[in-house]
Amino acid sequence: MINLAKDFPILAQKVYGNRLVYLDNAATAQKPNSVIEAMSDFYRTEYSNIHRGVHYLSEISSEKYEEARKKASDLIGARDPREVTFTSGTTGSINQVARSLEPSLRGNEVLVTGVEHHSNIVPWQLAGAKVKAIPMDEDCNSLTGSMEITDRTKLIAITHVSNVLGSVNEIREITEIAKDHDIPVLVDAAQSIQHLPIDVKDIGCDFLAFSGHKMYASTGVGVLYTSYRFNDITPAIGGGGMIDKVTFEGSTYLPPPLRFEAGTPDIAGAISIGAAIDYMQNIGMDKIRKHEHEVYSYARDKLLEMDNVTVYGNAIQMCGAVSFNLENIHHYDTGLILDKMGIAVRTGHHCAQPLMRSLGIEGTVRASFALYNTKEDVDMLIEGIKKVEMMYS
Ligand SMILES: *Cc1c(COP(=O)(O)O)cnc(C)c1O
Repeated sequence: MINLAKDFPILAQKVYGNRLVYLDNAATAQKPNSVIEAMSDFYRTEYSNIHRGVHYLSEISSEKYEEARKKASDLIGARDPREVTFTSGTTGSINQVARSLEPSLRGNEVLVTGVEHHSNIVPWQLAGAKVKAIPMDEDCNSLTGSMEITDRTKLIAITHVSNVLGSVNEIREITEIAKDHDIPVLVDAAQSIQHLPIDVKDIGCDFLAFSGHKMYASTGVGVLYTSYRFNDITPAIGGGGMIDKVTFEGSTYLPPPLRFEAGTPDIAGAISIGAAIDYMQNIGMDKIRKHEHEVYSYARDKLLEMDNVTVYGNAIQMCGAVSFNLENIHHYDTGLILDKMGIAVRTGHHCAQPLMRSLGIEGTVRASFALYNTKEDVDMLIEGIKKVEMMYS
């Protein structure tokens, strides 16, 4: 077992006198020293605005920013770094696509899975599309065979991993079907980028979105991969840095990536994404995945063994998050009591109300894992749950 908690200063603290057991990683992950230092070093010694400067600091900042883009591009197997743009996060990325594709989406349909986060539902509705879900079986697996594609289906937008259940969607199956119908596919990778290998060429998607803060980088920054095939879509946001020529009569735009990055971006945030990728790659992605898989399976098995605990979802492949409820105890109460023991979990609908409706519940307790969690953390959670049960019996 590897123990990486030592790299994360925040994890050393005590909460209500107990060791902090941080199991809210699907909401956001903590930051290693190397990421914190990369950001503070940048502000201390290199900071300036990018691209347009002729001076020393501006060149260094531009270089660092473009290095981060290259790292993100390599991480997801993009053909070219120009397919990677920095956004404000997964939500920002998806909204940007919704805005760009709005002319084709308005009055038409977007197909999603039944486990989507609200940020892969609401942007399509704002763009005037009707959102339709692929049917699920009782284990919450998408029934890709029952996908209903019509003339009005203009986009398939699917999450790679459910932020609630930890179930991994068979995105390859979906992109294959989409290709037969010539429908673009967007993948929400907010919960997979930190846990699974991703290769956009292999997946065959046209757009892929993720956030920095869930992969050990800063908040307020994220990535949108846009396949070169969509090089000339209308940019969602206009302003400085993205134009070719501007007159009062009209404007023309630069090619990607600048086309999709109007205004001053979160430069330090982008650099933090580069630093987080370095951090993970220095440990070794395979090593991280093996460790996470061990801890995750251990947690799921332990929860499944418990008599009065319902665990939701059951896909062939699972990772990251596990959602459950204790019999006759409200999820919120469970979360509050666990907190007093220093165990941080999340409770509620987890921005997935349609999924809660399919499960016939209002909310769950969700434990979600990162590379620094250990089996010992799981043991603490299980002990904690037993104490909650005892208090209610
Ligand atoms: C967190 C999350 C989002 C939204 O990410 P933000 O960083 O809040 O923009 C979207 N989809 C999934 C699956 C998520 O887990």
